Amino acid sequence: MKILKIDHIGIAVNKVDERKNFWTDVMGLTHTGSETVEEQKVLTAFFPIGESEVELLESTSPDGPIAKYIEKRGEGIQHIAFCVEDIDAALDELKAKGIKLIDEKARIGAGGARIAFLHPKATNGILVELCERK
Ligand code: ZN
Repeated sequence: MKILKIDHIGIAVNKVDERKNFWTDVMGLTHTGSETVEEQKVLTAFFPIGESEVELLESTSPDGPIAKYIEKRGEGIQHIAFCVEDIDAALDELKAKGIKLIDEKARIGAGGARIAFLHPKATNGILVELCERK
């Protein structure tokens, strides 16, 4: 597979509104927008840094994956996303290598990107996301 860049770092927070000021006022980033991804029960807020971005993730439901993550491990870095050239080829390659995947097929994530998650058991505890943007 060909990884092009780190696309974003996903950070789980209780409330985007309570955490975004650190990234804007202290770190000097710009909050360029937010988007709710209903399927993932998450509100995502974007803070670009060069070709990558920080994404703050707030659960829109108590049973969403971000709420469960915070319940277990508290607020913090929840996943790291790598931009790949061809996500279908990357997933085929990972399957051929016997890597456990959460998403066998790419689905649509925030910003219309095609995304898929690897299983943390296959990555020594790091939730890795692949994404393809066209
Ligand atoms: Zn992500």
